[in-house]
Amino acid sequence: MHPRRWIEIRPAGVYCVPGDFYIDPTRPVDRAVVTHGHADHARAGHGAVLATAETLAIMRTRYGEDMTARETPLAYGETLTIQGVTLSLHPTGHILGSAQARLEHDGGAIVFSGDYKRRPDPTCALFEPAPCDVFVTEATFALPVFMHPPIGEEIAKLLASLKQFPERCHLVGVYALGKCQRLIMALRDAGYDETIYLHGAMVRLVELYEAQGLKLGPWEVVTPQLAPTLAGKIVLCPPGALNDRWSRKLPDALTAAASGWMRIRARAKQKGVELPLVISDHADWNELTQTLQDVGAPEVWVTHGRDDALVHHATQNGFDAKALHLLGYEDDSE
Ligand SMILES: [Zn+2]
Ligand SMILES: [Zn+2]
Repeated sequence: MHPRRWIEIRPAGVYCVPGDFYIDPTRPVDRAVVTHGHADHARAGHGAVLATAETLAIMRTRYGEDMTARETPLAYGETLTIQGVTLSLHPTGHILGSAQARLEHDGGAIVFSGDYKRRPDPTCALFEPAPCDVFVTEATFALPVFMHPPIGEEIAKLLASLKQFPERCHLVGVYALGKCQRLIMALRDAGYDETIYLHGAMVRLVELYEAQGLKLGPWEVVTPQLAPTLAGKIVLCPPGALNDRWSRKLPDALTAAASGWMRIRARAKQKGVELPLVISDHADWNELTQTLQDVGAPEVWVTHGRDDALVHHATQNGFDAKALHLLGYEDDSE
């Protein structure tokens, strides 16, 4: 049966009728399948949560042990049948534990991508196309202007700046979940083996990634005593802390930010970012359009982001495409 006959868009989000569960609901529900740990997809207070073990661990870290009454871990590629709906999870290359949810019912299959990217990332498994009749995709950076450069180029800019301004503390705004750990790995890949300093808000998720086996190298938390001594060092903080009272204790901080939005000069300027680094955990325009080809589903539904451009492109390329206009999935801080 075609998925359009058993998938509904409800106020709490996308709902699977025969399975009686939601995918990434934006308000508390009885049963939720959660694609990944970012706050706009993973919320506390559901009766039951099904997700990868890594996503469940991230949710417990962020929301506490009582984030849900019942947890069901499902590994990539494993299947579980819920009231006639066969569910499986597949990697998306977005962050640790992130998954596409594939639902099959009565001969029809639909895949919810959640957020994804196609580039190799040592902090998570590579995106795997899964066969389906309907592919549900994000569209955060779905404009041809969004072309993310190789991460190595952006890291080289940061290291060059560090060399040029050794008296300045290099303060980099990064999202605490995913971007932070990926940036640390990229610095290590580029041969930077010095201690990296972290805002206190990054620590628990960094420790969680380490507990999953990631080798992030030496790091230390910034304390009030330590802060004035960090000239020539790299400090990572949440984007919101770049220009707040906390950062004023750092010696002559040079502000950088790692985000796909840094492609937009005006946005970097508005946020007071001196060194914009275009590093994104979302697919850029080419990755999005390539993914439609790789997945090969005849029908494409677009959840959030720049849906017009992607729907238009998909339609022109022979896909049956539509926008779902889902609200509540903000990737502002991505
Ligand atoms: Zn995300
Ligand atoms: Zn998202």
